[in-house]
Amino acid sequence: MIAAMPGAISLNTPIEDLHSFKIARLGQILSHKLAKALAAQTHKKNSAEVTVEDLLNYFPMRYEDRSRPALIKDLHDGVEASLELTVTKTNGYAVRNPRGYGRAQLYIFEVSGIDGPMTGKEVIVWWFVSGRRAYDIVKYYTAKLTRGTRFITFGRWEWEARRNTFKLRLNNAADELEILLPPPESTDEPTHDAEPGPEQAEENVPDPSLAAIHVGRRVPVYRKLGEFNSKRVREIVHAVLSLLNDKAIEETLPADLRHRTGLISRAQAVREIHFPPPDVSMLDYEQSKSLAQMRMIFEDFFWVTFAIGLKRGQREKEVKAAPLRIDKNVKDHIGSVMPFKLTRAQRKVTAEIFRDMQSTAPMNRLLQGDVGSGKTIVAVVAMMAAMENDLQTALMAPTEILAEQHSRSIKRLLAKTPYRVEMLTGSLRAAEKRHVQNALKEGAIHACIGTQALIQEAVAFEKLGLVVIDEQHRFGVMQRAELRARGLNPDVLVMTATPIPRSLAMTVYGDLDVSIIDELPPGRTPIETMVFGEDQRQEVKRLITREVKAGRQVYVVYPLVEESEKMDLKDATHRYEYLRDTVFPRLSVGLLHGKMKPAEKEKVMSAFVAGEIKILVSTTVIEVGVDVPNASVMIVEHAERFGLSQLHQLRGRVGRGAEKSYCILLTSDTKTVNAEERLGIMAKTNDGFIIAEKDLELRGPGELLGTKQSGLPEFRIGNIVRDQAILEKAKQEAEFYLAKPKAVVTGKMIARIKADPRFGLAQIG
Ligand code: ADP
Ligand code: MG
Repeated sequence: MIAAMPGAISLNTPIEDLHSFKIARLGQILSHKLAKALAAQTHKKNSAEVTVEDLLNYFPMRYEDRSRPALIKDLHDGVEASLELTVTKTNGYAVRNPRGYGRAQLYIFEVSGIDGPMTGKEVIVWWFVSGRRAYDIVKYYTAKLTRGTRFITFGRWEWEARRNTFKLRLNNAADELEILLPPPESTDEPTHDAEPGPEQAEENVPDPSLAAIHVGRRVPVYRKLGEFNSKRVREIVHAVLSLLNDKAIEETLPADLRHRTGLISRAQAVREIHFPPPDVSMLDYEQSKSLAQMRMIFEDFFWVTFAIGLKRGQREKEVKAAPLRIDKNVKDHIGSVMPFKLTRAQRKVTAEIFRDMQSTAPMNRLLQGDVGSGKTIVAVVAMMAAMENDLQTALMAPTEILAEQHSRSIKRLLAKTPYRVEMLTGSLRAAEKRHVQNALKEGAIHACIGTQALIQEAVAFEKLGLVVIDEQHRFGVMQRAELRARGLNPDVLVMTATPIPRSLAMTVYGDLDVSIIDELPPGRTPIETMVFGEDQRQEVKRLITREVKAGRQVYVVYPLVEESEKMDLKDATHRYEYLRDTVFPRLSVGLLHGKMKPAEKEKVMSAFVAGEIKILVSTTVIEVGVDVPNASVMIVEHAERFGLSQLHQLRGRVGRGAEKSYCILLTSDTKTVNAEERLGIMAKTNDGFIIAEKDLELRGPGELLGTKQSGLPEFRIGNIVRDQAILEKAKQEAEFYLAKPKAVVTGKMIARIKADPRFGLAQIG
């Protein structure tokens, strides 16, 4: 076997080959381990595919300015600072041994240290060590941090009067404490109880030339990467950057764009995002506003919005079977089934939908509207228009309960029309299912209401013209692709009750047109929301009793957290029994959860709709869509476990009639700032858009929409909330190039993103 002589290092150099570039302390085994650790970060399946570019895309989580480390005399209570210290002594002691046998499970490890010029009393750095191997870890640190060892540590220093000095608690010692040099008199005996780590054997062979990377300058701090701690990642990135020629860091953005936007070159950005130069503001780095970060954030957004725009352009070129005719006759027929007058907002979005349906390109529209804004009737109007054109329609709901509700109300609305409405869900008996499927194939069913089963199980339509997807955020955005794979290219209307902040609409839903219902139907009384603690249960009971006496109905909702589903379900069931037997023995209390058989669910739900059940104890299966106007109280147990948008959805189950409604968020967790702040927002506003913005800020887009399944590539460094201005700019620039599809520069961009598997665009012609 002849090992190929490495050429110059480039962005495409495999990480597994790094060892051939003579990087200090990076042999073949460690190169391989590094590639594996990076593969996990980049979703690359094969670590052989991991390249230098992936390593350089592993951005620091923060920076430390070590050009002028603080001194002990500069400390004051609560200050954040990094200090360079020399160990004077260590102490690891057990603080709790819950089982009372064997080795203790929880230790405190303390390091006392003094700064070089000895400007004050020695300070204490400490952290908890716990777990099965706690004892070994304490031994490991004791051996590593011997007297005389120099280290750097960073964090929030607090004055401790009892010991008359400053203390710093570390959350993660591996990330927050960095050993610079072992003590001069230390022996080279390796310690065998040590934590396994690639660096430990080499740690005793300090390389003074490397030490300069870590002190006396601004340094990046990385999240631990597999077995590589921040210091090792820093050394490797530093070595790679110094081997890498500027020309090897190819510029990906055209010069005129960089000129318009004032972005620095990619080569400069890549270098400076890892090692901030000495003359720039560290505050900018902390706030992700340095030139280097802004350039990388822009690039991140640019390619994603470009890819979405490209997809969208592709769709606009498609043609559907036939554009619809929506004339006066059709409109009159629709008008005759309407139970009420549409609001101004409903009329506006209806006009937008009609315009799409009358065009030759398939509609791909997102209908947004707060809970209770009346999206269902708009869907029915669109379905009527399609059916009047002899086309079939389908409506997909996220749950069976919701599908049943829609089917009930649409059957009622269309009772006097010739149109046949049927339901198709996964729980139908095989014979029934076949029956419905045959009727669909023959075109005998005009509106088919169902769950995912509608498109998942080989369903064929004779002439499918419109698909409505209700409460979209439960679905992901791939359904359209699934339909098209079946050779269908119908109009698609996606409805969502999670109002989508503009920044998200631009990215996640960037390939949809958007209509917004920004008005509630008349005659609604706002819902009063209260955050209650455990000690206020009596008040809750009084409210329930009063409302039920007045003829109204109540929901009590329990969270079902996936990881502990069984226990949660038991919890909900117990509470139900307790409410039924002990608290409200004279009222009819019902139970509803996702694990019940569809027939049972249906029975409970219809009893609640009919007003026979007064108090419905439920899991979040009622979160979306359920419409029982007589219900006026929503109690949410463990409210702190829900996201804001979810709470808003739950709250939207009440306030649907003219009566005043209440939403009570029960929580035992009124202590933590986060819970209090989050739940407080619910009490303050009923506006779904404000709540969604806040949710996005607090939890990020993945949580809000489940973007993990949405097929949207994740951003590497861009944060759509923090960097919204850059996002807007990037989108504008992407559109600029997309508008000139024939230009050479645009062609290059298209080739570039098609070649990037992140975007899944390879098949676009
Ligand atoms: P959502 O947008 O949350 O899906 P729904 O479509 O369930 O809202 O509508 C909420 C309630 O408002 C329903 O009871 C519906 O019948 C009623 N509604 C919708 N539009 C109007 C209107 N224009 N006038 C009066 N009531 C309406
Ligand atoms: Mg709805």
